[in-house]
Amino acid sequence: MELHPFEQHPTREWQEADAAHLLHPFTDHQALAAKGVRVITRGEGVYVWDSEGKRILDAMSGLWCVNVGYGQEALIEAATRQMRTLPYYNAFFQTTTPPATALAQRLATLTPPHFRHVFFSGSGSEANDTNIRLARRYWDLMGEPQRKVIISRVNAYHGSTMAAASLGGMAAMHAQGGLPIPDIVHIGQPHAWAHREGVAKGLSRDAFGLVAARWLEEKILEVGPERVAAFIGEPVQGAGGVIVPPATYWPEIQRICDRYGILLISDEVITGFGRTGRWWGCETFGTRPDLMTFAKGITSGYVPLGGTMVGERVAKVLIERGGEFEHGYTYSGHPVACAVGFANLELIAQQGLVDCVREDTGPYLAQKLEALRDHPIVAEVQSCGLMAAVQLCRHPPTGEAFAVEHGIGLVCRRHCFDNGLVMRAVGDRMIVAPPLVITRAQIDDMMALVREALDRTLAEARAAGWAPAA
Ligand SMILES: *Cc1c(COP(=O)(O)O)cnc(C)c1O
Repeated sequence: MELHPFEQHPTREWQEADAAHLLHPFTDHQALAAKGVRVITRGEGVYVWDSEGKRILDAMSGLWCVNVGYGQEALIEAATRQMRTLPYYNAFFQTTTPPATALAQRLATLTPPHFRHVFFSGSGSEANDTNIRLARRYWDLMGEPQRKVIISRVNAYHGSTMAAASLGGMAAMHAQGGLPIPDIVHIGQPHAWAHREGVAKGLSRDAFGLVAARWLEEKILEVGPERVAAFIGEPVQGAGGVIVPPATYWPEIQRICDRYGILLISDEVITGFGRTGRWWGCETFGTRPDLMTFAKGITSGYVPLGGTMVGERVAKVLIERGGEFEHGYTYSGHPVACAVGFANLELIAQQGLVDCVREDTGPYLAQKLEALRDHPIVAEVQSCGLMAAVQLCRHPPTGEAFAVEHGIGLVCRRHCFDNGLVMRAVGDRMIVAPPLVITRAQIDDMMALVREALDRTLAEARAAGWAPAA
């Protein structure tokens, strides 16, 4: 029998073909070619398998998206059925398809009541481009066209298109390609650990949260309140390192947005659909956003889909006074993506995953993380629902960091992989965001692998003289 082209190669051949032809996102290609790409061939539940047959616990849910885990028949069924019925039609020209409209209606029931409309895109980056268009269009229609500035934060991640990368606060991304685009400015992040030697020194977490939120007010006054259109933030910064803000932070941000009348955009691409233990991160942190970005978990990553929830404040103006909104994507409301999204939301609801994260697995993970606090290279642990960070540090009592050139996060990540665990490194911060279907027993397995990786990292650091001897 002839083999399917996806099955016929040994790993080495995949690696050669890959090095010859595939440019990867966020990758140093020379380094990758020297090492050989890892080929993932199969997934089931919270596990994936590579082309060598090795099983790996995927504690990052792919890229924060495979929330219902791999191999869910309901989603596979939904995609297959829709592909047979109607694989594509658009939502332009006064047209829709049943999955697009049904998913929009369903999203309206799962979001805070002032959200009744959705604009679909193909990804989170596109949805954030849409947000800039929407925010600026809103202020045009309100007769304040000079309100163009969007305030974001250092170390934020909002995607990788020109506009989304500009909204983001990643210095390395801005350094390539002349970013940010005009009228996007950044304030500091509510990251107490990063500010431990600076403004956060000697402050309680809550006091620091207020200081960090007031950077927004300072920036508004600096730019001129009459020029500011919106503030955008992730409820919990994800790619920046799972930075859980102090409890005081978001309510103060909301107060400041209200005071100056500026739009609040909650980028819920990671925090949406139960990750924090509620359907939306804004519910966990107590804000009332005007626009809400989603992607990733909407389809559990099975097919690409993103979008923006548009609150009544903006939707009403856009619909009643806006005429034609000159914006849209070929795949806005793609029927297969929307059918899978709909099935995914049904599954999350049926399985009670959001409540489970809030009441069971989230607190259980937090409790297990606590046990890492006394590890010799762990400075802090933080979690919110099923997203968590472990901050590595050379000498926790003094907060002395590892030397940057030792790349301790990458060392730890290598030990994770070798040991059958996907954990991500953001600098010296190790992060996890496992599928929401993870069980307590699987959390135990995951945490055993995490501890093993930390122990091996410590041993390597001691052997190299990077960490104090025992
Ligand atoms: C991943 C991510 C995005 C970008 O989504 P893409 O689908 O990769 O374009 C935007 N915002 C946040 C918070 C993200 O984590």
